[in-house]
Amino acid sequence: MHVIEIIEKKRDNQNLHKTELNYLIDKYLDGIVPDYQMSAFLMATCINSLSDEETAWLTDAMLHSGKVFTHDKTKPLIDKHSTGGVGDKTSIPLAPAVAACGLGVPMISGRGLSHTGGTLDKLEAIPGFRCDLTSEEYEEQVKNIGCVITGQTKEIVPADKMLYALRDVTGTVGSIPLIASSIMSKKLAEGIDGLVLDVKFGSGAFMKDVDSAHLLASKMVGIGAHMGTKVTARLTNMDQPLGTMIGNALEIKESIEILHGRGPDDTRLMIIELGAEMLMLGNIASSLEEGRNLMDESLTSGRAFSKFIEMVKAQGGDEAFVREPERLKVAPEKIFINAESSGYLASINSRLLGMALQLLGGGRMALTDLINHSVGIEMLAKIGDQIEQGQPICIIYADQKGIEEAILKVKQALNIAHRPLDKPILFQGRISTN
Ligand code: URA
Repeated sequence: MHVIEIIEKKRDNQNLHKTELNYLIDKYLDGIVPDYQMSAFLMATCINSLSDEETAWLTDAMLHSGKVFTHDKTKPLIDKHSTGGVGDKTSIPLAPAVAACGLGVPMISGRGLSHTGGTLDKLEAIPGFRCDLTSEEYEEQVKNIGCVITGQTKEIVPADKMLYALRDVTGTVGSIPLIASSIMSKKLAEGIDGLVLDVKFGSGAFMKDVDSAHLLASKMVGIGAHMGTKVTARLTNMDQPLGTMIGNALEIKESIEILHGRGPDDTRLMIIELGAEMLMLGNIASSLEEGRNLMDESLTSGRAFSKFIEMVKAQGGDEAFVREPERLKVAPEKIFINAESSGYLASINSRLLGMALQLLGGGRMALTDLINHSVGIEMLAKIGDQIEQGQPICIIYADQKGIEEAILKVKQALNIAHRPLDKPILFQGRISTN
């Protein structure tokens, strides 16, 4: 087998075999295939794509480049993955709420990069919270508490780490089979029995329209089917931020509201719906309706909140900040952004709001940047709401850095129309291996 032949086959739009993809990944990890050959393969893949079978084989090769957890299982392990949005704090209440219903949730999550936030950064707004658990600590916590949210260790899918860094500098990030295999290899390494995918589309998402979200979701569900893991994907609208809060400490406060059975309707709906899907995959619920009821009960009874406290304590976080969220530090300067005209809030460019958060210091430009957990934006209106001139639409919580630029971005993100319009529908499609 020769790597040049593999590259040429993909260049000529021919299908590769499992052994060829295994060879390519193995030799790349060993340093025998250099970056320039892998870049050529990635570009050929971007242009000619991969079949469903090739995508599953690539995922398998990447998955087995590192540790795959087996867990000492006492219950089904089901996880959720979102393709990233603005104000999306879903994982934080979802993991304990589902664990409180009897599933294990072994969530390995990521940090924010570019305009989308990261669950780990948000959790680190709780003083002491550790997202760097060892593999042993991770397994112990899944077994003893039922839920964990931590970062990726070096042992998990090293091939993805190398490939992602290369894709980032070779214009090859935006390929659906490469995105699907990257996400799925990391999730399958958790040793899960099932996975719920929240594939977002819209102004604040990676996928700009529902058709590309559908394609990505189908590829990932197809990988699940091929690998014998149950996967359900839901397509969700990210044309406006989820909930009202954007920013690390602010999103923890909103998550705690949800864990008390309160909080914004869209965020509650998202958690209840995705949680119901997880409970179905784990055979705790026999229908979505039953799953929704169990999730609602988990949130309103306080059981989800108690599970969250257990998780925070196990990961070194100070529970006092969860019990009294007003102690979480929020930046001192409050700037109100008021409507310049009367009408209806027609669109919110979530991407620009995410960029405003970055400018305030609440998000990263590079992975090594330190972030300020206390800054953020609070949305006071949603798309379709009637607005009077001068009415505050959002509040910026700032702390010296990037204030003027952030104000400009936020103003640019808001668009008021004269005529009433429909509110966006949050859930817009479902694909499942079942
Ligand atoms: N997230 C990932 O983990 N991988 C990609 O390729 C894109 C988004």
